[in-house]
Amino acid sequence: TKEDVKSYLFRNAFVLLTVTAVIVGTILGFALRPYKMSYREVKYFSFPGELLMRMLQMLVLPLIISSLVTGMAALDSKASGKMGMRAVVYYMATTVIAVVTGIVIVVIIHPGKGTKENMHREGKIVQVTAADAFLDLIRNMFPPNLVEACFKQFKTNYEKKSFKVPVQPNDTLVGAVINNVSEAMETLTRITEEMVPVPGSVNGVNALGLVVFSMCFGFVIGNMKEQGQALREFFDSLNEAIMRLVAVIMWYAPLGILFLIAGKIVEMEDMGVIGGQLAMYTVTVIVGLLIHAVIVLPLLYFLVTRKNPWVFIGGLLQALVTALGTSSSSATLPITFKCLEENNGVDKRVTRFVLPVGATINMDGTALYEALAAIFIAQVNNFELNFGQIITISITATAASIGAAGIPQAGLVTMVIVLTSVGLPTDDITLIIAVDWFLDRLRTTTNVLGDSLGAGIVEHLSRHELKNRDVEMGNSVIEE
Ligand code: ASP
Repeated sequence: TKEDVKSYLFRNAFVLLTVTAVIVGTILGFALRPYKMSYREVKYFSFPGELLMRMLQMLVLPLIISSLVTGMAALDSKASGKMGMRAVVYYMATTVIAVVTGIVIVVIIHPGKGTKENMHREGKIVQVTAADAFLDLIRNMFPPNLVEACFKQFKTNYEKKSFKVPVQPNDTLVGAVINNVSEAMETLTRITEEMVPVPGSVNGVNALGLVVFSMCFGFVIGNMKEQGQALREFFDSLNEAIMRLVAVIMWYAPLGILFLIAGKIVEMEDMGVIGGQLAMYTVTVIVGLLIHAVIVLPLLYFLVTRKNPWVFIGGLLQALVTALGTSSSSATLPITFKCLEENNGVDKRVTRFVLPVGATINMDGTALYEALAAIFIAQVNNFELNFGQIITISITATAASIGAAGIPQAGLVTMVIVLTSVGLPTDDITLIIAVDWFLDRLRTTTNVLGDSLGAGIVEHLSRHELKNRDVEMGNSVIEE
């Protein structure tokens, strides 16, 4: 029909615009590099990109809450239990596969040459023990004050002595606090010892706590019969309204992405600092992520659903490019929703339930990266890892990827946990900071891909429950 043709053109206009944005952004960035813009000029230049980040982040909080509440409320407890189990099994399985892939690749390519000579160092790193970080993760699942959980928070529970964070003389505290999420890492290195973002947080907001609360809340109102009707309708219409806002932002996204990418290329370090080892390391990470994203995940999708994974991935293009541009799986979440529901027709009961949780805890790219980077640092230090230590790295890398927030370079921060667990020097994270901004974008894209294919797989596995539920409800609850 005419409508179909129109929507087809619309979708392809998006894909075309988005791809153009990446290409033009890259060319523009390189073309402007010779002009050596000042910090301030780069800030002005990247302003349209910063706006995109802010718009996306603006929607994340209401989106996570409304989608999880309606998602849970739309299922009966048996269906949500089964679906939840499937999602968790998928998350764990793919994360473990990612970690193993990372380890195998870094052992085979062996980018670390047993010396730190000719390696450039940048920045300093926060010290956090694995036990502290783990307890904090659990602690944050239960925010004592829900309203407060929605505001920017900083951690004060760690022992102060365990920190080594120098404050640069010209840095003000206020400056550090108001820095936005695109500078999360920068903020972290500048921040004073009392102020470290909470694990599982998104832009300082305690996302994990809100995820847990929203799921419980949705579950309860889903079981409340007529008494819960008003709340169900409220959250349902809130969710619908947010998604309409997302549709508006999507039109702005290509422009924002163009400037995010161009701005980053303009300000990045000269390639000169990237010595041979670091270059090999970068290649190793890229190979690992490619294997996971291009072979493992699509194959898994195909094996489970018997559908063409590339058609599915084609529908996700805008989300993937947004992940590449923003380096944040949380900021990408609104677009991921749109792509999955509208382009790929994934059932909303699945996306609403699976995506917010996935964006918070399921990070294949990050898990792969953490294991790979830890072993690279061992190689650089001529540190022989025994089998037990490799297992320890696998486990802590999995935990660190769960604990990492979906914000730029969060994975670099939780890497401290992995390194500490086997006694590697945490200061050596500074060896890889120079390339992290770039690798972060690639692992974020892998993270978003993993969450999205997971939604497709969970939907396929849960098709019977979904159908039964439709019959039971006369198909009027969620489907518009
Ligand atoms: N930036 C990543 C994400 O948002 C997390 C990481 O640093 O690995 O998914």
